[in-house]
Amino acid sequence: MPDIIDRYGRTFKTLRVSLLSACNLGCVYCTLGENTDMFKKAQAPVERFLDHIARLHKELDLETIRLTGGEPLLYHDLPLLIKGIGAIGIPEIKITTNGFLLERLARPLKDAGLQSVNVSLDAAEEATFYRMSKRRGLQKVLTGIEAAIEAGLDVKINTVIMRDLNDDQLLPLARFAFSKNIQIRFLEVMAMGHLHQQAGQYLYTQEEVLNCMATAYSFEPEERKKSATANYWRTSGGHSFGIIANESEPFCHDCNRLRLDAQGNIYGCLSSNNPISVKDAGSSEVLRSRLSQALQQKQALKFTGSELSMLEIGG
Ligand code: SAM
Repeated sequence: MPDIIDRYGRTFKTLRVSLLSACNLGCVYCTLGENTDMFKKAQAPVERFLDHIARLHKELDLETIRLTGGEPLLYHDLPLLIKGIGAIGIPEIKITTNGFLLERLARPLKDAGLQSVNVSLDAAEEATFYRMSKRRGLQKVLTGIEAAIEAGLDVKINTVIMRDLNDDQLLPLARFAFSKNIQIRFLEVMAMGHLHQQAGQYLYTQEEVLNCMATAYSFEPEERKKSATANYWRTSGGHSFGIIANESEPFCHDCNRLRLDAQGNIYGCLSSNNPISVKDAGSSEVLRSRLSQALQQKQALKFTGSELSMLEIGG
């Protein structure tokens, strides 16, 4: 089956699945602090996700799937879903989580076939953790990270750096990650959801991250892999860190990501508010035409912002 390709040579090889839009944290860049966990709706059944994923894999020959949300560890049948994805034959199965429930789940998820976990962590001390997430429980996340390492998962930390909110956490978090021998990636804040028109005031740029890291480490750039979201550097001590520089160094030109939500809609880009349903795309022909439509949602150069928050579309 030939790849579905756009005029920039882009296709879909990574699928990000938003399992639910509820979350047990209230991070300031994602929500206005409301507890979305309280508005738990019925969750989409495993079989429905597997059906969509299998049909998409058949057309796209996917290389990677990343489970996200909302908070994916709140999804009721996660080990079963991961086993099912393994059986479909997608080679790499990854998850992005806030780590709150990871201590209990790391081992069963690894046993089910999960390979890699990105833990979102925006502070290395409790007061800033609370300022960023509106919840207490830094220790729970740290224990979750330990459990994931012990279970043999490939662990990375993702940190959104926001000016005057948590930029003082950059070096403490780098120190923490390096002490555990895990990679950390710093994210420039994106103009999404309630930050759509005001992300600029919080933007802490790639250059500023590098200047800050340079006060404590010496490092060299690493070669960028095709379709990567992050640029990476290696310190003279052998540790690696990345920056996801949506603003300073956009990476739309070779983006290979497709998103699927719990309602059976696909999106070709985080900037798009236009869901494309695959629920009723029964034949291969119809599904391929919807995928071509989704591919056209990709930006030529740069993420242009969205009124949807990541909670809704999946981070
Ligand atoms: N609940 C999970 C978690 O916390 O990792 C998965 C969903 S969360 C929306 C996925 C990622 O999106 C997190 O790393 C979060 O930091 C990032 N994120 C959410 N809103 C963002 C924004 N406006 N700018 C940059 N990153 C954002």
